[in-house]
Amino acid sequence: MHPPLRRLTPLLVAPLALSALLAPPASAAPAAPSTSATAPECSEEPRDLPTWKFIDYREMRRELAHIERISRGRVDVKAAGTSNRGRTIYTATVGTGKKVFLVTSEIHGNEKTGTTSLLRILKWLGTSSSPEAKRLRRTVTFVAVPKINPDGAELDRRGNDNAWAEVQKDFPQLAGRPPAWNYLNTSLQGDDYTKRPGFDLNRDFNPNLKYVPKAADVPGESAQPGWFLNPESQTLRDIYTKLRARKGKVDVYVDLHHQGACVREDAQNRLLDVAVDYPPLPDTFFEPGGKYAQYAKTYAKKLSKQLAISAFRGIEKRGYIGARYPHAPTRDLPGQARCSFAMIGTGTVLFEVRGQTQTMGHQMSERFTRAVTAGLTNMLNDLSTGKVYGFDPDTYEQFPGTVENSAATAFRHAHDGHELE
Ligand SMILES: [Zn+2]
Repeated sequence: MHPPLRRLTPLLVAPLALSALLAPPASAAPAAPSTSATAPECSEEPRDLPTWKFIDYREMRRELAHIERISRGRVDVKAAGTSNRGRTIYTATVGTGKKVFLVTSEIHGNEKTGTTSLLRILKWLGTSSSPEAKRLRRTVTFVAVPKINPDGAELDRRGNDNAWAEVQKDFPQLAGRPPAWNYLNTSLQGDDYTKRPGFDLNRDFNPNLKYVPKAADVPGESAQPGWFLNPESQTLRDIYTKLRARKGKVDVYVDLHHQGACVREDAQNRLLDVAVDYPPLPDTFFEPGGKYAQYAKTYAKKLSKQLAISAFRGIEKRGYIGARYPHAPTRDLPGQARCSFAMIGTGTVLFEVRGQTQTMGHQMSERFTRAVTAGLTNMLNDLSTGKVYGFDPDTYEQFPGTVENSAATAFRHAHDGHELE
C-alpha cells in the first residue's frame, strides 16, 4: 500500500496555467555550484530511497481517465498494446494538427519524471483555452505514451519483465540461440534480475519496421539494430507505424530518460537538470557503401539537432540547467528507438534528467519535472510555429557539454559496454 501522502502529489493539484507548470519551484533550491558548502551530495551508489512522489501505474490510469473526461474528448486515451505481464500500454492523443509529435516516458522503469511531465502537458493542452493551447491543438497532433515499460516501472527498475525462454516461445526460430546482448539476468543498479530477468527495451528497435527476428541476428551487439523481441517495443513500433499510415509522417519523437546523479555542465560546472542529445549514429556509416547508406536520404539528423536546440533553449529560458549529453562521433546505437526512428525520417531528441530512482529517489523531482515540461513545451511551440526549421543546427555544438566524474562515466559504460542512459 502507498502512504496516504501520495494524494498530495503536485500532479493532482497542478494548476492549468502553463507558466505555473514551468517556473522553478520555490521550495527546491537550484543545483548549487560545486564550490558551495551547501552543494547537494550526489552518489552513483544504488540505495533504497523514497519514490512515492512519482506516479505509479494505477494512478497513471486514473489520471489519464480523469484528463480524458475533463478535456471533454479533446484528449483521446486508447489502449495501444499490452506489456509482457499483461498491463495495458496507453496512448493519449490531443490536437488535430498536421505535425505529429510522439513522446514516450519510462522505457527504463527507474527513470520517472517524464511520466508526470506528460500528464501535466496533456491536462494543460486538453483543457486550456489560451491562444497558445488552441494554436498547438490546431497545428500539432501530440501523442504521449506514458510508461511504455509499465512492468519495469512497477518494479522500479531499468529492464522489463521477460525471460529469454518466453521470447523463444514467441519466436521459435530463436530456439538454441543465446539470449540477446541486452538481456538482463544478473544484477544491475541494485536490482536483482536473476529470478526475474528482463531486457533493456531501448536496444530492441530496428529501422526496418517490418523486421522479423532471425536466428543469425542474435545475440547481436550494441552497434547492430535490435529485433522487436518484446511486447513493449512491438507496441511502440505499432504506434509509430499506425501514426505514419494515418498522418503520413511522424515528425518528432522524444524519449524521456534519466542518467547519472553527479553530472555537471562544463560551462560553470553546475550539477545539471536535463541534458539533451540527437541520435548517436556516426556520419561515415551513411556514406556510399556504409552500413546505413540505405538511410542516407531519410536520416533526420538536421531536424534532430534543431529540435534539440529548441529543447535546450526551453529548459534554459525557464531557469533550469541544460547541457549536451556526451556524444562521441563514433557512438553507434542503432537499436535505440530514437536512432531507428531518426534513420527513417523522424527528428528525435533524447532527454536525460540527472539521477535515477536508486541514486536520487524523488529528490528534486518537482524541479526536474518542470524542466522536462519546459523543454517539451518549447519544442511543441517551435514545431507549431515552424521556427524550429530555421535554427542553424551547428549552434547546438556551442551549448555547454557534460562533465562526468569517474563514477558517472563507469555508470554509463557499465555492464559489458552497455551504456546506461
Ligand atoms: Zn534511460
